[in-house]
Amino acid sequence: MEKVIIIRYSEIHLKGKNRGYFERVFGINIEKSLKGIKHEVRRRSGRYLIECFEENQTEMILQKLNKVFGIHSYSVALKVPTQMDRIFEAAKSVCRDCGSFKVETHRADKTFHLNSMEISAEIGGRLLSANKNLKVDVHNPQFVIDIDVREDGTTLVFGNYYKGAGGMPVGTAGKGLLLLSGGIDSPVAGHMIAKRGMNIECIHFHSYPYTNLQARDKVIELAKVLSEYSCGIKLHIISVTHIQEEIHKNCNAEYMVTLLRRFMMRIAEKVAIKIGAQCIITGESLGQVASQTIEGITASNSVIEKLPILRPLCGFDKDEIIERSRNIGAFDISIQPYEDCCTVFLPKHPVIKPDLKTIEEEEAKIDVEKLISEALNSRETLNF
Ligand code: ATP
Ligand code: MG
Repeated sequence: MEKVIIIRYSEIHLKGKNRGYFERVFGINIEKSLKGIKHEVRRRSGRYLIECFEENQTEMILQKLNKVFGIHSYSVALKVPTQMDRIFEAAKSVCRDCGSFKVETHRADKTFHLNSMEISAEIGGRLLSANKNLKVDVHNPQFVIDIDVREDGTTLVFGNYYKGAGGMPVGTAGKGLLLLSGGIDSPVAGHMIAKRGMNIECIHFHSYPYTNLQARDKVIELAKVLSEYSCGIKLHIISVTHIQEEIHKNCNAEYMVTLLRRFMMRIAEKVAIKIGAQCIITGESLGQVASQTIEGITASNSVIEKLPILRPLCGFDKDEIIERSRNIGAFDISIQPYEDCCTVFLPKHPVIKPDLKTIEEEEAKIDVEKLISEALNSRETLNF
């Protein structure tokens, strides 16, 4: 019996007139995630079907589909010709050994000689006589066997429902630029926004040679994790070495992190506009560290001129973020002990509540515009 995978979508159906567009993007994303694996995708009355794959690749396909946003649930089904004996054979093989069950039939093929109720009753009855450890419970069954009689003369039979990744198809909610550090938070922030359908590109700031090449590899690995959810990803890498040296040489040490953050934001906004991104995304969480007090956030926020900044983790505790990080497969990479540029020239006592007047006085001691354009020139872009 041939196996097929039935994919049901999430909120896409809510999108009224845009439905066609959402479905198209969703279909393309499914295809991209299964690139290189033999299969065929078909759209059928509000669902997608994956067919014609090698049975021993089922697990791998399901793992890929688990990362496609927009999938509400999926089932692995058996496809048989629409004949009662064949349907029964399939039902028997998906049926559990014992417990209470019911059979639910959906019949698109109105020409078939039995209606849905009759099909359910007959298959249920045959299953009962074949196994004395089963009983029917139509109100509160332990499991359900679904029979889907299609118009093309085939029937799908299944007894499982798996939860999909949820969210919206990536590419249906614009584009954002994620500030990706090597830490735990920013990959989680990117994942959350991609889940809402946004296309993500990443920007990473390093201060090589103060930070080493392993730190860079770590960020590349994190970008690759995100790329599995977002159908590929671009990573822009920018050097802030000279900026940090200039701050270190000329400004009050306590303001290193605050000033660096403001540079990152300014550079990120320029890159975002250049690549057509409509917002900036960070992994900031209120009060988590000195630079993330509301005063710290205000200081970095105030250099942004045009774009909104999304901070999806703002109200999350660290343990909630860690749990998400583990779930998306980023945690083990994030905790590798390589330095981030924020720890270079790190003062003993970073300012916790920076005020704008002092910040501006400190910035007046260096050539901000020149340093920004220098940093922009160091941009290197990688594709995953
Ligand atoms: P993360 O775990 O994401 O590194 P964090 O708890 O270490 O976050 P900070 O170091 O204060 O927090 O960084 C706050 C946010 O600023 C990060 O989530 C990220 O979006 C951005 N950021 C920090 N450092 C960098 C960097 N080197 N390159 C790009 N973005 C960065
Ligand atoms: Mg960090």
